[in-house]
Amino acid sequence: MRLISTFSLSALLVACNGTNAITTGESPVLLPRAEGDVYGFQAETLAPGVYALNEGNDFHIQPRGNVEVIEQSNGVVLVDGGGSPAGAEQVIGFVRSKTPKPVTAIVITHWHGDHALGVSRLLQEWPDARVISTGPTSDMLTSPEADRYMPGDDAEKNAAYMANIQGGVAFLKGASQDEQYSEAERAGFAQSAVEYEQFAREMATARRAAPTETFEHSLTLADQTHPVEVTFLGRANTAGDAVVWLPRQKVVITGDLVVAPVPFGFNSYPEEWIGVLDQVRGLNYAVLAPGHGRPMRDTAYVDLLISMVTDVRAQVAPLASTDMGAAAVNAAVELDEAQATIAGDDPWLRRWFRDYWKEPIVSSALREARGVPIVQGSN
Ligand SMILES: [Zn+2]
Repeated sequence: MRLISTFSLSALLVACNGTNAITTGESPVLLPRAEGDVYGFQAETLAPGVYALNEGNDFHIQPRGNVEVIEQSNGVVLVDGGGSPAGAEQVIGFVRSKTPKPVTAIVITHWHGDHALGVSRLLQEWPDARVISTGPTSDMLTSPEADRYMPGDDAEKNAAYMANIQGGVAFLKGASQDEQYSEAERAGFAQSAVEYEQFAREMATARRAAPTETFEHSLTLADQTHPVEVTFLGRANTAGDAVVWLPRQKVVITGDLVVAPVPFGFNSYPEEWIGVLDQVRGLNYAVLAPGHGRPMRDTAYVDLLISMVTDVRAQVAPLASTDMGAAAVNAAVELDEAQATIAGDDPWLRRWFRDYWKEPIVSSALREARGVPIVQGSN
Protein backbone atom coordinates (compact mmCIF):
# COMPACT_ATOMS: atom_id res chain seq x y z
CA MET A 1 0.00 0.00 0.00
CA ARG A 2 1.27 3.41 -0.88
CA LEU A 3 0.99 6.08 1.76
CA ILE A 4 1.27 8.64 -0.98
CA SER A 5 -2.00 7.64 -2.56
CA THR A 6 -3.63 7.85 0.86
CA PHE A 7 -2.44 11.32 1.70
CA SER A 8 -0.09 13.84 0.28
CA LEU A 9 3.63 13.79 -0.26
CA SER A 10 4.20 17.11 1.42
CA ALA A 11 2.28 15.86 4.42
CA LEU A 12 4.50 12.88 5.00
CA LEU A 13 8.15 12.82 4.17
CA VAL A 14 10.09 9.96 5.55
CA ALA A 15 13.63 9.74 6.62
CA CYS A 16 14.76 6.86 8.69
CA ASN A 17 17.72 5.46 10.50
CA GLY A 18 20.70 6.51 8.45
CA THR A 19 22.91 3.76 7.14
CA ASN A 20 25.27 6.02 5.25
CA ALA A 21 28.62 6.82 6.76
CA ILE A 22 28.41 10.32 5.37
CA THR A 23 28.33 12.45 8.45
CA THR A 24 31.28 13.76 10.35
CA GLY A 25 31.90 16.77 12.53
CA GLU A 26 30.60 17.85 15.92
CA SER A 27 27.68 16.27 17.71
CA PRO A 28 24.39 18.00 17.03
CA VAL A 29 22.64 19.90 19.83
CA LEU A 30 18.94 19.25 20.41
CA LEU A 31 16.91 22.47 20.45
CA PRO A 32 14.25 23.04 23.13
CA ARG A 33 10.84 21.68 22.14
CA ALA A 34 7.31 22.23 23.30
CA GLU A 35 6.16 19.72 25.91
CA GLY A 36 4.83 16.53 24.38
CA ASP A 37 6.61 16.98 21.06
CA VAL A 38 8.22 13.79 19.79
CA TYR A 39 10.30 15.39 17.05
CA GLY A 40 12.10 18.66 16.50
CA PHE A 41 15.31 20.21 15.27
CA GLN A 42 18.89 19.68 16.29
CA ALA A 43 21.60 22.21 15.40
CA GLU A 44 25.04 21.76 13.91
CA THR A 45 27.70 24.31 12.98
CA LEU A 46 28.74 24.12 9.33
CA ALA A 47 31.25 26.99 9.43
CA PRO A 48 31.68 30.07 11.64
CA GLY A 49 28.33 31.89 11.55
CA VAL A 50 26.65 29.14 9.50
CA TYR A 51 24.37 26.57 11.11
CA ALA A 52 22.14 23.73 9.98
CA LEU A 53 18.98 22.72 11.82
CA ASN A 54 17.92 19.20 10.93
CA GLU A 55 15.84 16.37 12.27
CA GLY A 56 18.78 14.00 12.25
CA ASN A 57 18.73 10.48 10.92
CA ASP A 58 16.58 8.80 13.53
CA PHE A 59 13.10 9.89 12.59
CA HIS A 60 10.56 7.76 10.88
CA ILE A 61 8.62 10.67 9.55
CA GLN A 62 10.42 13.83 8.70
CA PRO A 63 7.79 16.52 8.33
CA ARG A 64 10.30 19.37 8.53
CA GLY A 65 12.89 20.11 5.92
CA ASN A 66 16.25 21.33 7.14
CA VAL A 67 16.79 25.02 7.87
CA GLU A 68 20.11 26.81 7.49
CA VAL A 69 20.99 29.95 9.45
CA ILE A 70 23.61 32.34 8.04
CA GLU A 71 24.76 35.30 10.10
CA GLN A 72 25.72 38.29 7.96
CA SER A 73 27.05 41.66 9.16
CA ASN A 74 23.65 43.33 9.44
CA GLY A 75 21.21 40.48 9.66
CA VAL A 76 20.49 36.80 9.32
CA VAL A 77 19.63 34.83 6.19
CA LEU A 78 17.53 31.70 6.58
CA VAL A 79 17.28 28.93 4.03
CA ASP A 80 13.80 27.41 4.32
CA GLY A 81 11.20 28.15 6.94
CA GLY A 82 10.95 25.26 9.37
CA GLY A 83 7.95 23.37 7.99
CA SER A 84 5.37 24.55 10.55
CA PRO A 85 4.74 27.28 13.14
CA ALA A 86 6.30 25.04 15.80
CA GLY A 87 9.32 24.46 13.59
CA ALA A 88 9.59 28.22 13.05
CA GLU A 89 9.40 28.70 16.81
CA GLN A 90 12.51 26.56 17.21
CA VAL A 91 14.23 28.52 14.43
CA ILE A 92 13.37 31.82 16.15
CA GLY A 93 14.73 30.56 19.47
CA PHE A 94 17.93 29.41 17.80
CA VAL A 95 18.51 32.68 15.94
CA ARG A 96 17.86 34.67 19.14
CA SER A 97 20.38 32.51 21.00
CA LYS A 98 23.06 33.45 18.47
CA THR A 99 22.46 37.10 17.71
CA PRO A 100 20.12 40.06 18.28
CA LYS A 101 20.27 40.80 14.53
CA PRO A 102 17.00 40.46 12.63
CA VAL A 103 16.29 37.95 9.91
CA THR A 104 16.54 39.97 6.69
CA ALA A 105 15.90 37.25 4.10
CA ILE A 106 14.33 33.80 3.90
CA VAL A 107 15.14 31.70 0.85
CA ILE A 108 12.59 28.97 0.09
CA THR A 109 14.35 26.17 -1.77
CA HIS A 110 11.16 24.67 -3.23
CA TRP A 111 7.40 24.67 -2.76
CA HIS A 112 6.88 21.61 -0.53
CA GLY A 113 5.19 22.46 2.77
CA ASP A 114 7.90 20.89 4.90
CA HIS A 115 10.19 23.70 3.69
CA ALA A 116 7.72 26.55 3.26
CA LEU A 117 5.17 26.34 6.06
CA GLY A 118 7.16 28.01 8.85
CA VAL A 119 7.50 31.25 6.89
CA SER A 120 4.25 32.87 8.04
CA ARG A 121 5.32 32.52 11.69
CA LEU A 122 8.82 33.83 10.90
CA LEU A 123 7.27 36.90 9.26
CA GLN A 124 5.37 37.69 12.45
CA GLU A 125 8.74 37.90 14.17
CA TRP A 126 10.59 39.66 11.34
CA PRO A 127 7.96 41.37 9.16
CA ASP A 128 10.54 43.14 6.97
CA ALA A 129 12.29 39.94 5.88
CA ARG A 130 12.47 39.34 2.14
CA VAL A 131 11.02 35.98 1.12
CA ILE A 132 12.88 34.75 -1.96
CA SER A 133 12.22 31.83 -4.31
CA THR A 134 12.34 30.89 -7.96
CA GLY A 135 9.34 31.76 -10.11
CA PRO A 136 8.06 28.16 -10.32
CA THR A 137 8.22 27.83 -6.52
CA SER A 138 6.30 31.08 -6.08
CA ASP A 139 3.76 29.99 -8.70
CA MET A 140 3.05 26.79 -6.77
CA LEU A 141 2.84 28.51 -3.39
CA THR A 142 0.37 31.07 -4.69
CA SER A 143 -1.72 28.57 -6.67
CA PRO A 144 -5.03 27.19 -5.34
CA GLU A 145 -3.64 23.86 -6.59
CA ALA A 146 -1.33 23.83 -3.54
CA ASP A 147 -4.37 23.69 -1.23
CA ARG A 148 -4.29 19.93 -1.78
CA TYR A 149 -0.86 19.73 -0.21
CA MET A 150 -0.77 22.38 2.49
CA PRO A 151 -3.00 24.82 4.36
CA GLY A 152 -3.82 28.15 2.73
CA ASP A 153 -6.62 30.70 2.90
CA ASP A 154 -9.53 28.46 1.92
CA ALA A 155 -11.20 27.11 5.08
CA GLU A 156 -13.05 24.35 3.27
CA LYS A 157 -9.92 23.06 1.57
CA ASN A 158 -8.00 23.31 4.83
CA ALA A 159 -10.64 21.12 6.45
CA ALA A 160 -10.25 18.56 3.67
CA TYR A 161 -6.50 18.69 4.11
CA MET A 162 -6.79 18.11 7.86
CA ALA A 163 -9.19 15.21 7.30
CA ASN A 164 -6.58 13.76 4.97
CA ILE A 165 -3.95 13.96 7.71
CA GLN A 166 -6.28 12.29 10.21
CA GLY A 167 -6.78 9.55 7.61
CA GLY A 168 -3.03 9.20 7.54
CA VAL A 169 -2.84 8.84 11.31
CA ALA A 170 -5.52 6.14 11.19
CA PHE A 171 -3.70 4.34 8.38
CA LEU A 172 -0.40 4.39 10.28
CA LYS A 173 -2.02 3.12 13.49
CA GLY A 174 -3.73 0.34 11.57
CA ALA A 175 -0.52 -0.62 9.78
CA SER A 176 1.35 -0.75 13.09
CA GLN A 177 -1.00 -3.61 14.11
CA ASP A 178 -1.17 -5.31 10.72
CA GLU A 179 0.45 -8.73 10.70
CA GLN A 180 1.12 -8.60 6.97
CA TYR A 181 4.05 -6.32 7.80
CA SER A 182 7.34 -7.34 9.37
CA GLU A 183 8.05 -6.46 12.97
CA ALA A 184 10.44 -3.71 11.88
CA GLU A 185 7.81 -2.21 9.62
CA ARG A 186 5.13 -2.34 12.33
CA ALA A 187 7.50 -0.57 14.73
CA GLY A 188 8.17 2.02 12.04
CA PHE A 189 4.47 2.60 11.46
CA ALA A 190 3.84 2.89 15.21
CA GLN A 191 6.49 5.57 15.64
CA SER A 192 5.27 7.29 12.49
CA ALA A 193 1.73 7.42 13.86
CA VAL A 194 2.90 9.20 17.01
CA GLU A 195 4.90 11.69 14.96
CA TYR A 196 2.07 12.20 12.54
CA GLU A 197 -0.25 13.15 15.39
CA GLN A 198 2.18 15.94 16.28
CA PHE A 199 2.23 16.91 12.62
CA ALA A 200 -1.58 17.12 12.64
CA ARG A 201 -1.45 19.50 15.63
CA GLU A 202 1.10 21.67 13.85
CA MET A 203 -0.83 21.82 10.59
CA ALA A 204 -3.98 22.98 12.35
CA THR A 205 -2.47 26.48 12.68
CA ALA A 206 -0.08 26.47 9.70
CA ARG A 207 -0.78 28.75 6.71
CA ARG A 208 1.44 29.17 3.72
CA ALA A 209 2.89 32.56 2.82
CA ALA A 210 3.77 33.86 -0.62
CA PRO A 211 7.33 34.79 -1.55
CA THR A 212 7.86 38.55 -1.77
CA GLU A 213 10.30 38.29 -4.65
CA THR A 214 11.48 35.83 -7.25
CA PHE A 215 14.64 35.41 -9.30
CA GLU A 216 15.29 33.70 -12.60
CA HIS A 217 18.95 32.65 -12.65
CA SER A 218 20.68 34.02 -9.58
CA LEU A 219 20.52 36.59 -6.83
CA THR A 220 23.23 37.68 -4.41
CA LEU A 221 22.71 38.67 -0.79
CA ALA A 222 25.91 40.67 -0.48
CA ASP A 223 27.98 40.74 2.69
CA GLN A 224 31.63 41.21 3.59
CA THR A 225 32.06 37.93 5.41
CA HIS A 226 29.06 35.80 4.41
CA PRO A 227 27.90 36.62 0.89
CA VAL A 228 25.07 34.33 -0.16
CA GLU A 229 24.49 33.34 -3.79
CA VAL A 230 21.02 32.01 -4.54
CA THR A 231 20.90 30.18 -7.86
CA PHE A 232 18.64 28.17 -10.11
CA LEU A 233 20.75 25.50 -11.81
CA GLY A 234 17.93 23.71 -13.65
CA ARG A 235 14.87 21.64 -12.85
CA ALA A 236 15.75 18.71 -10.64
CA ASN A 237 13.68 17.50 -7.69
CA THR A 238 10.99 20.07 -8.53
CA ALA A 239 10.46 22.59 -11.33
CA GLY A 240 12.08 25.39 -9.34
CA ASP A 241 14.76 24.21 -6.93
CA ALA A 242 16.93 26.99 -5.53
CA VAL A 243 20.50 26.10 -4.60
CA VAL A 244 22.28 28.33 -2.10
CA TRP A 245 26.06 28.75 -2.21
CA LEU A 246 28.34 30.44 0.30
CA PRO A 247 31.54 31.00 -1.70
CA ARG A 248 33.64 32.10 1.28
CA GLN A 249 32.67 29.21 3.53
CA LYS A 250 32.31 26.72 0.63
CA VAL A 251 28.95 25.58 1.96
CA VAL A 252 26.26 24.49 -0.50
CA ILE A 253 22.63 24.15 0.56
CA THR A 254 20.70 21.97 -1.84
CA GLY A 255 17.11 21.67 -0.66
CA ASP A 256 15.65 18.32 -1.71
CA LEU A 257 18.04 17.83 -4.64
CA VAL A 258 19.88 15.85 -2.01
CA VAL A 259 17.91 13.99 0.67
CA ALA A 260 19.29 11.24 2.90
CA PRO A 261 18.98 8.46 3.71
CA VAL A 262 16.22 7.81 1.12
CA PRO A 263 15.98 10.31 -1.75
CA PHE A 264 12.59 11.57 -2.96
CA GLY A 265 11.80 10.91 -6.61
CA PHE A 266 8.33 12.41 -7.01
CA ASN A 267 7.60 14.57 -10.05
CA SER A 268 11.28 15.11 -10.66
CA TYR A 269 13.21 15.82 -13.85
CA PRO A 270 15.81 13.03 -14.04
CA GLU A 271 17.93 14.27 -16.94
CA GLU A 272 18.24 17.83 -15.66
CA TRP A 273 18.66 16.56 -12.10
CA ILE A 274 21.89 14.79 -13.09
CA GLY A 275 23.17 18.03 -14.65
CA VAL A 276 22.30 20.01 -11.54
CA LEU A 277 24.02 17.50 -9.26
CA ASP A 278 27.10 17.70 -11.51
CA GLN A 279 27.11 21.47 -11.06
CA VAL A 280 26.75 21.11 -7.29
CA ARG A 281 29.61 18.63 -7.28
CA GLY A 282 31.71 21.04 -9.35
CA LEU A 283 31.49 23.68 -6.63
CA ASN A 284 34.10 21.72 -4.66
CA TYR A 285 32.18 22.38 -1.51
CA ALA A 286 33.54 21.76 1.98
CA VAL A 287 30.07 21.01 3.36
CA LEU A 288 26.81 20.10 1.66
CA ALA A 289 23.62 20.73 3.65
CA PRO A 290 20.87 18.50 2.21
CA GLY A 291 17.12 19.09 2.34
CA HIS A 292 16.74 16.28 4.89
CA GLY A 293 19.44 14.46 6.82
CA ARG A 294 22.76 15.47 8.30
CA PRO A 295 25.42 17.64 6.65
CA MET A 296 27.84 15.89 4.30
CA ARG A 297 31.52 16.64 3.98
CA ASP A 298 32.40 14.66 0.88
CA THR A 299 30.86 13.85 -2.50
CA ALA A 300 30.09 10.17 -1.86
CA TYR A 301 26.33 10.56 -1.55
CA VAL A 302 26.08 13.01 -4.46
CA ASP A 303 28.03 10.54 -6.60
CA LEU A 304 25.67 7.79 -5.50
CA LEU A 305 22.64 9.91 -6.43
CA ILE A 306 24.07 10.73 -9.86
CA SER A 307 24.73 7.06 -10.51
CA MET A 308 21.25 6.07 -9.27
CA VAL A 309 19.42 8.55 -11.52
CA THR A 310 21.66 7.65 -14.47
CA ASP A 311 20.93 3.95 -13.95
CA VAL A 312 17.17 4.50 -13.83
CA ARG A 313 17.24 6.53 -17.06
CA ALA A 314 19.33 3.85 -18.80
CA GLN A 315 16.98 1.05 -17.74
CA VAL A 316 13.82 2.98 -18.61
CA ALA A 317 14.96 4.17 -22.06
CA PRO A 318 14.45 0.88 -23.97
CA LEU A 319 11.13 0.23 -22.18
CA ALA A 320 9.74 3.66 -23.04
CA SER A 321 9.33 2.77 -26.71
CA THR A 322 7.14 -0.22 -25.83
CA ASP A 323 3.47 0.02 -24.88
CA MET A 324 4.20 -1.03 -21.29
CA GLY A 325 2.36 0.91 -18.58
CA ALA A 326 4.06 2.61 -15.64
CA ALA A 327 3.46 -0.31 -13.26
CA ALA A 328 4.95 -2.83 -15.70
CA VAL A 329 7.96 -0.62 -16.32
CA ASN A 330 8.44 -0.18 -12.57
CA ALA A 331 8.37 -3.97 -12.16
CA ALA A 332 10.87 -4.45 -14.99
CA VAL A 333 13.42 -1.99 -13.60
CA GLU A 334 15.84 -3.61 -11.17
CA LEU A 335 17.47 -1.44 -8.50
CA ASP A 336 18.60 -4.12 -6.06
CA GLU A 337 22.12 -2.82 -5.72
CA ALA A 338 21.02 0.75 -5.03
CA GLN A 339 18.42 -0.54 -2.59
CA ALA A 340 21.08 -2.50 -0.72
CA THR A 341 23.34 0.55 -0.62
CA ILE A 342 20.61 2.86 0.64
CA ALA A 343 18.58 0.54 2.85
CA GLY A 344 20.75 -2.46 3.68
CA ASP A 345 18.62 -5.24 5.16
CA ASP A 346 16.26 -2.91 7.00
CA PRO A 347 12.71 -3.80 5.89
CA TRP A 348 11.43 -0.35 6.91
CA LEU A 349 14.03 1.50 4.85
CA ARG A 350 13.62 -0.92 1.97
CA ARG A 351 9.89 -0.09 1.94
CA TRP A 352 10.61 3.63 1.60
CA PHE A 353 13.26 3.04 -1.01
CA ARG A 354 10.54 1.40 -3.12
CA ASP A 355 7.80 3.90 -2.40
CA TYR A 356 9.68 7.20 -2.26
CA TRP A 357 12.49 6.48 -4.68
CA LYS A 358 12.01 3.60 -7.09
CA GLU A 359 8.42 3.96 -8.16
CA PRO A 360 8.38 7.77 -8.45
CA ILE A 361 11.78 8.11 -10.15
CA VAL A 362 10.90 5.37 -12.63
CA SER A 363 7.59 7.14 -13.29
CA SER A 364 9.41 10.45 -13.83
CA ALA A 365 12.01 8.85 -16.10
CA LEU A 366 9.28 7.16 -18.13
CA ARG A 367 7.42 10.44 -18.59
CA GLU A 368 10.62 12.16 -19.57
CA ALA A 369 11.52 9.46 -22.10
CA ARG A 370 8.04 9.52 -23.62
CA GLY A 371 7.81 13.31 -23.65
CA VAL A 372 4.89 13.32 -21.22
CA PRO A 373 4.85 16.48 -19.09
CA ILE A 374 5.97 16.12 -15.48
CA VAL A 375 3.52 18.03 -13.30
CA GLN A 376 4.30 19.17 -9.74
CA GLY A 377 2.07 17.55 -7.15
CA SER A 378 0.66 15.01 -9.59
CA ASN A 379 1.78 11.94 -7.69
ZN1 LIG B 1 11.57 18.18 1.92
